[in-house]
This record gives sequence, C-alpha cells and structure tokens, in this order.
Amino acid sequence: MPLKEKLPNQIFYLGLMAAEEILGLNGLNSILNYAKLQKFIGNYPPNNLELEQSSEDFTCLMSGFIEVLGERGSKAITFQLGKRSFELIVEQFPALLNIDGIKPDDRTPDRLFDEYVRLQDLMFVAAKGIFGDIYTCYENEDGYVIELSPCYWCTGLKTEAPICNAGNGFSHAVGRWVVGQDLRIEETLCIARGDDRCRHVVYRPGK
Ligand SMILES: [Zn+2]
Repeated sequence: MPLKEKLPNQIFYLGLMAAEEILGLNGLNSILNYAKLQKFIGNYPPNNLELEQSSEDFTCLMSGFIEVLGERGSKAITFQLGKRSFELIVEQFPALLNIDGIKPDDRTPDRLFDEYVRLQDLMFVAAKGIFGDIYTCYENEDGYVIELSPCYWCTGLKTEAPICNAGNGFSHAVGRWVVGQDLRIEETLCIARGDDRCRHVVYRPGK
C-alpha cells in the first residue's frame, strides 16, 4: 500500500511547529528552501484536519532535514524532532492519535509496558487512517516491533546506516509518556539502507 495522497493540514502544522522550535526559524527556512517547499515559509497550513496537503511534500520535508544536515549531523536533530512532535500531540492535538483524555500515569506500574503496547496499537489505528495502511506492529519476546513500508521518514534517501531517527524519537516520547522512563529503541532495518522495510524494536525494560 502506498502512502495516502493527501494528508491533513494539522500534520504539517505540527511538523513545522516542532521543526521551528528545534532548528529556529532560519534553520527551518533553509530546509524549506532546499526541499523546494518555499510555499510554507512564513505560511504554515492551518491547524485543522482538512486533507489539503500532499504526502509527497511531507516526505520531501523529512528527507530535506537529512540531506541538509547530513547523515550523521541530522541524527540528534531528527530524533528531537520526532520526540517533540509526540509531546506536542499530547499537549495540543491528542485527538489526532486517539489519545484524547488518556492519562497513562494513572496505570499500575507492573502493567506499564503492556499499557504502552495497548496505547501504541490504538495510535497506529489513527495513524493508518492518516497515512494509509503502511504499518505492521506486533509484540514479540523482545518487546514491540513497528514496521513501516513505505516509510515517510526516509523516502528517496540512500544511507549507510538506518536513518529514521525521527521515528525513533517519536516512539521514545511515547515510551516516556506511558512508562515514565526511556525505553531502549533500535532501528534494525531501514529502506534507505537497502532493506525492504523500516523496523524499530522497542525493547521491554530489562531486555
Ligand atoms: Zn525508514
């Protein structure tokens, strides 16, 4: 299944807000220039769910960060970008991922990773509605596995090592939100490196 052609305005609004916070306005504008997305300079899409943005622009924006900052140089920044995007969803747009009104710190501590799995599953239902049927998610003995094909973080890139640090940062923030600690997360497969899908493994604490 390909990515859905049109994405809601709010996805761009959110991504550009997070990027402006992390890179500063000038840093973000140079990425937008490079990615030929000048139409967004000083002109973010409105904060609503109308399907007015193209997924191609989204993948150009994501790969733009890595092309401008370099494979190594982009690592920490794209991680922060993913992490901050999820924090903004919790703070401002929880309905986007089905988590409106959910307060995971009310849960009992021994069930927290199971709760993490439950909430990730719930969010991927919403994410499939937004991006298309591109995710395969399942639990195994190590923890929780997230696979994407195609992957909007690395479309069109060719890299030496797995590059979807934004996805990793996003999952990190989800883990912190639910479990209250940093989970170990590893990207074990990546399309940009030549694999047939991107795969992130979120390890159960203690694994
Ligand atoms: Zn990827």
